[in-house]
Amino acid sequence: MSLADVYAHLKAHEAEDLELLKKLVAQPSVSARNMGVTDCAELLRGLLTGLGCTNVNVFSTPTKPLVFGELRSKKPGAKTVLFYGHYDTQPPEPEEEWLTPPFEPTVKDGRLYGLGTADNKGQFLAHILAVRSWLAAAGDVPVSVKFILDGEEESGSPSLPDFVRAHRELLAADFVYNSDGPMNAGDFPEIKLGSRGDLSFELSLTTATHQNHSKTGQLIPNPAIELCRLIAAIVDENGRVTIPHFYDDVLQPTDYESRIIDELEFDAEALKKIYGTKKLEKNDKQSYYRQLMFMPTFTINGMSGGYTGPGHKTCVPHKAFVRCDVRLVLNMDPEKVARQITDFVHAFDPEIAVTFEPHPMLPSRTPAELPVCQAVIGAVRSVYPKAVIHASSGGSTPGYVWTDIMKTPCLLVPYGNADQTNHSPNENLRLDCYYNGAKVSAAVIDAVANMDHTVFR
Ligand SMILES: [Zn+2]
Repeated sequence: MSLADVYAHLKAHEAEDLELLKKLVAQPSVSARNMGVTDCAELLRGLLTGLGCTNVNVFSTPTKPLVFGELRSKKPGAKTVLFYGHYDTQPPEPEEEWLTPPFEPTVKDGRLYGLGTADNKGQFLAHILAVRSWLAAAGDVPVSVKFILDGEEESGSPSLPDFVRAHRELLAADFVYNSDGPMNAGDFPEIKLGSRGDLSFELSLTTATHQNHSKTGQLIPNPAIELCRLIAAIVDENGRVTIPHFYDDVLQPTDYESRIIDELEFDAEALKKIYGTKKLEKNDKQSYYRQLMFMPTFTINGMSGGYTGPGHKTCVPHKAFVRCDVRLVLNMDPEKVARQITDFVHAFDPEIAVTFEPHPMLPSRTPAELPVCQAVIGAVRSVYPKAVIHASSGGSTPGYVWTDIMKTPCLLVPYGNADQTNHSPNENLRLDCYYNGAKVSAAVIDAVANMDHTVFR
């Protein structure tokens, strides 16, 4: 029995696996307006039960249900993989821009069109198919598997952190594996090992009871000028944040992480085009990716105060306001950073109010050097030889739920085509991506089962 037998089983069942995906897509599950979510959860309960899972449960939460099921390997000492996915979708609007109805899955030119095909029904189904084919071809899965399917990822998974805190035992695993999002334009996946966190806040200052004539310039305080002076004091001319101890907890990339940056593509001109800008602040591969993945940011998201309408109005504003965010990297504590910011601002001017958004997103990162990461990287490259590793994405995802609450490594491997247009009309999943995804999941199971023999990449 080998992985080739599992692949052969997958190949032989492509037609019925397409029908299964169609059935899931035809079941609406729009979390934002609670459309069909519970029915979809029940459909998945049946699917996991049919697969032979035990402990199958649709857990209700204060918001939308989570679907769970597990399958124990007969192999003594088998590792455990927790597959995370989400069965909810974005709303279909604008429906008139769909060329085929969003809930009527339609095959055209080697793609399945329909809402949720790629995001995320086809992607988590790939894991289920892989397990199904392992069972059929080998009579067992060489690793124990658990599935946790989220019913409100598209609404920010509000109940997931508390659910995970309350069910650590049930969800315990050697690693968490998630497939979501598109592959890159070169048609291979970027294996993501983490994401930055985010701390958003507002700075505001009121210096008078009402707007005044601009003849009062330099006679009375101007809150907009005061906030500009504050920001200029926070970020120096090189873009470095001057708040004391801001960078103290930032970890430098390891030698291996620097090496995987070397394997990434970097084209400054192409990036300038993507961003629509004339200038990049970091012009070489290492400094660009180090900033994107390993360094925090301090950004103004927007600012306002006084008159900004057409024409002119010669006034001195009485209030001004700046909205900012800090992208946090691994090892930075949002509460500590919030204190540093507040202390700095109040030392500058105690009148400036600092208001933080509740629930900052924590950063997360799984070390690329871990044997489990090496096993997964090898498995993904056996199907997609050009797959690259991103130590962290520049944005934020709730990966901390696994790495921080569960203390479990977490990897994200996108299976969708680059032009899957998720969150937009005509969402689609290329059928070869769907079938290859199932192969990747089958190979990941195999690689993790044989992890002790993994070659370091
Ligand atoms: Zn999505």
